[in-house]
Amino acid sequence: MAGMNDSLFSPVDPDGIRRFLFEGAGVRGVIVRIEHSWQQIRVRDDYPDSVARVLGEVTAATALFAGDIHLAGNVSVQMKAPPLLPLVFAECTAEGDVRGLARWGDDARDSSLRPDELSCAVLAITIERKESGTRYQGMVPLEGETFARSFEAYFAQSEQLPTAIYLASNQTTCAGMLIQQIPTEGGAERERDALTFEHAKILADTLQTDELLTLDATELLHRLYHEDDLRLFDAYPVRFRCSCSRERVAGMLRTLGREEVFTVLSEQGQVAVTCEFCNEPYRFDGIDLEQAFASEMLNAAPQRAQ
Ligand SMILES: [Zn+2]
Repeated sequence: MAGMNDSLFSPVDPDGIRRFLFEGAGVRGVIVRIEHSWQQIRVRDDYPDSVARVLGEVTAATALFAGDIHLAGNVSVQMKAPPLLPLVFAECTAEGDVRGLARWGDDARDSSLRPDELSCAVLAITIERKESGTRYQGMVPLEGETFARSFEAYFAQSEQLPTAIYLASNQTTCAGMLIQQIPTEGGAERERDALTFEHAKILADTLQTDELLTLDATELLHRLYHEDDLRLFDAYPVRFRCSCSRERVAGMLRTLGREEVFTVLSEQGQVAVTCEFCNEPYRFDGIDLEQAFASEMLNAAPQRAQ
């Protein structure tokens, strides 16, 4: 079987990412609510509840930031807080493909995993813009009582845009909202935008976790801002999809070299590789491997001719 793994067939969250803005003011927002795709990520390991909650919030945050740049590139968030959380990683591509994983230490199960209680913790956000091919990475120490506060600190330091972030996750859903004041020249406009941002934030602060997890974007915005003039943009669908494939795994085996791979084959009867992001198992028997290494010769031939 060729092509992408089974995640191709995972169900889509059609309203995963929704952008909105306050008419007549430089304040914009993003709402994210991910169900099917989050469940696909969560079941791929035996996550303790505390770890799953963090991974859900980081996944929602990654989709918020992808929405904030209009899905113009790939956004990934990487968090390192050993020994409790050696790694939390989530990614949302320009196509709305999300994936994520977490690794945890023994004591993570009984920890609240509050950012300000994790020692030596670092948060990195990477944005790869598709059109320009530029890659930007910002890094901040984890701080505050919640991961939402940590991400706000990132925006305050790296982008210097007033930003309010709300995150929540449970077994079935991860969700988030971002409100941001857009940069302007200054003067009266900036004052007006700052007032609108404050107004938007005060109301958003009243949002309950349950509401964030259960209301769709239209209901959520009505609940908060029914007296304001808002524009809600079309939804971006989101789905769980890993970029691994049988071809990529075969390519990785070729870089190990024929001798090493066939030694494993003779010892184990097959060569098994599991993708660490999606847990997709890839198994190669002797015939598969002969084909994989034969295609290497085919691929290599034109290069030699050049
Ligand atoms: Zn994979």
